[in-house]
Amino acid sequence: MSVRVRLAPSPTGNLHIGTARTAVFNWLFARHQGGKFILRIEDTDLERSRPEYTQNILDGLTWLGLNWDEGPFFQSQRLDLYREKIHILLEKGLAYRAYDTPEELDAMREAQKAKGEAPRYDNRHRYLTPEQCAAYEAEGRSAVIRFMIEDDREITWTDLVRGKLSWKGRDLGGDMVIARAASAGDIGQPLYNFVVVVDDIDMQISHVLRGEDHIGNTPKQILLYEALGATVPTFGHAPLILNQSGAKLSKRDGVTSIAEFQQMGYTAEALANYMTLLGWSPPEGMDEIFLLPGAAEKFSFDRVNKAGAKFDWDKLNWLNSQYLHQMPSNQLLELLLPYWQAAGYEFDAVGDRPWLEQLVDLIKPSLTLLQDAVEMSRYLFVAQLDFSAEATTQLQQSGTAAAVQAILTTLESYQPLTSEGIQSLIKQVTSEHHLKKGLVMRSLRAALTKAMHGPDLAQSWLLLHQHGWDRSRLEAALEIAG
Ligand code: GLU
Repeated sequence: MSVRVRLAPSPTGNLHIGTARTAVFNWLFARHQGGKFILRIEDTDLERSRPEYTQNILDGLTWLGLNWDEGPFFQSQRLDLYREKIHILLEKGLAYRAYDTPEELDAMREAQKAKGEAPRYDNRHRYLTPEQCAAYEAEGRSAVIRFMIEDDREITWTDLVRGKLSWKGRDLGGDMVIARAASAGDIGQPLYNFVVVVDDIDMQISHVLRGEDHIGNTPKQILLYEALGATVPTFGHAPLILNQSGAKLSKRDGVTSIAEFQQMGYTAEALANYMTLLGWSPPEGMDEIFLLPGAAEKFSFDRVNKAGAKFDWDKLNWLNSQYLHQMPSNQLLELLLPYWQAAGYEFDAVGDRPWLEQLVDLIKPSLTLLQDAVEMSRYLFVAQLDFSAEATTQLQQSGTAAAVQAILTTLESYQPLTSEGIQSLIKQVTSEHHLKKGLVMRSLRAALTKAMHGPDLAQSWLLLHQHGWDRSRLEAALEIAG
């Protein structure tokens, strides 16, 4: 049987890291097996589904490099198929209409609670006669469709991650609702557990690979496969992504959507690499920095862990910095341009290209996130910048004025300024004016970059020099220097 897997996100929010990690595992498995990866948008919940979330999901998957082979299919366009299958179950006597009112269901649950029992539907409308149905309908009651679950059934499957799992029919909450309430004779909106099975059968899905939070749905779905006369696929439930305190990662933990990671300046490659490591251990000898196609060669569910995967920001940041540090500067420049543009920096992306590439070379080794480049290079883009408090303190130290003045005077004879020129200029200033090298360097940093920490000083100076900004900065520093 050919391998066909699917990602089935509900467009009720932006692409979440948990869904994206599920997508990664599906993609890797499909590619490893030479199978197909199918994308299906589960938008049957019309109230909560939004087209902008669908777009966000498609954009996020594309950005991560998780290309799909078929789809996207939309469940909202497939309602006829679901209705047809419900009719089949009704005709086979495997599903039925239940007319309970919300008040009756509440009362039933209260009574169960009073007896210390777990709440469940007690299947009271399972064997209504046609006359009883007609009577309820005459009362104007609407009906849900329930699928019969036998209490004494044992449902067992061998999960790719968790091994053999068994559930008892009696623990599934009674006959399950597969379609919402509708008026007499009609079928209401079909629900998740049912449509997912109809679609997975129709799309010939061979392996259902998803998050562990769906384990409880699997026994119900297996019963539906049987009822619809279909082969049960193989299931694999990947561990949840946990926060630092061991709870499921949620919105409360801050950033969770792929778009937010992207905005913060993680690269698609680093994030995809990191997500793969959230639950999968590379085989012995494989480097933990890898691109998705490389991981696909080695990927198998044998190395997916059962235990939850703790989200580790330090690890993700480290991976991202590795990708940035190794990226060719012209490629990194393309990724940085939007950040500088968004910061309002003025530059000509074409005309200033050589200067911009030198800037990238300068800051690249210090980047963890793309967005770090904004602060790190502000002094090179913004002409009028205040001295930081530290730089002001430095400039006010005695001897600084003499150092800055000496640099200004000596600068004349080093035109055009080069790297070597900078080194000899500093030597000349220290020896001729009997100044300590440390003082000269600190004064230069404060004057030129307006701060006491930052990228390589000589390279910064050269970039400022190419803008024609070095002399004016030294002069401005002289005005406040002690
Ligand atoms: N729509 C479901 C979700 O987003 C899909 C679950 C599944 O893969 O079966 O969680």
